[in-house]
Amino acid sequence: MSRIPFVILILAVLTVAACSRSKGPPLAGDYPLTRLTEHVYVIHGPNDLPTKQNQGFMNNPGFVLTAKGVVVIDPGSSVQIGEMVLKKITGVTKDPVIAVFNTHIHGDHWLGNDAIRAAYPKAVIYAHPAMRAKAAAEGENWLKLLSTLTDDATKGTRAVAPNMDINNDETLALGGKHFRIVHTGVAHTDGDIMIEVVEDRVLFAGDNIVAERTARMDDGHFKGNIAAVEAALKVNAKVIVPGHGLSGGREVADAYLGYLKTFHATVKKYLDQGMSDFDMKDKVIADLKPYQKWVLFDAEMGKLISLAYLQIEAEAF
Ligand SMILES: [Zn+2]
Repeated sequence: MSRIPFVILILAVLTVAACSRSKGPPLAGDYPLTRLTEHVYVIHGPNDLPTKQNQGFMNNPGFVLTAKGVVVIDPGSSVQIGEMVLKKITGVTKDPVIAVFNTHIHGDHWLGNDAIRAAYPKAVIYAHPAMRAKAAAEGENWLKLLSTLTDDATKGTRAVAPNMDINNDETLALGGKHFRIVHTGVAHTDGDIMIEVVEDRVLFAGDNIVAERTARMDDGHFKGNIAAVEAALKVNAKVIVPGHGLSGGREVADAYLGYLKTFHATVKKYLDQGMSDFDMKDKVIADLKPYQKWVLFDAEMGKLISLAYLQIEAEAF
């Protein structure tokens, strides 16, 4: 080997080393791909919190095949999960990813953008303006949280914020498919979007609807979330993909609506009787017995009662 090519080779190796990052191992476990309609797919993550065992994979990434390329919804908590989603896509089509929708700010739904952007730099990533503003400001916090909860299984992930606004009732026409956005104000967060894949009659609901799982309302509002689920039920969808838990028909939305309404009405009933949020806890648990097998039922109960209590008090003024 002559001297000059050897020097070039060393420089090339050093450049690659400088550009690459230290990433955690790929996602372990085999998560099946579910075909919902001819052109719409979902990978159901475990209906759980992010843990070391699931490496942060617990949401429902989806994708839609169009004549121009693939559209991804919520590519998960990490670059590793985003790469798993891309692997599933290449098992179905060699077409590129042309667009991504992020349903809301919680990091388990959008940190996988990193993998999509690395593989397809031109893909446009859409989200509600309120979500985009927060993603730019809070990305590092979400990275830290996911890393802590998963014992750093998300290592190497970068926060790639969405780069295009989309808002209520806007419809994006992509490769012969229409993606219609539903946003009804503060619901699970202040920047939720639900995505109707019109031709396929599928609704990606984000965490405005979750299945067999209690609400996370830290950034949300009970009445607003109820309004969002009612709007979801007005969409002409035959398949509903919840943010967590299994997809199904309209009964997925009906069940969550029933839960939210029961929760709100139960807390209101005991508040009207003059009870404090702490004193009503056992009674609320008893009244919500039909939902006691849902994920996070016990863990979230105290906090959810306090949040509902404060919101109902505020609604009285
Ligand atoms: Zn969420």
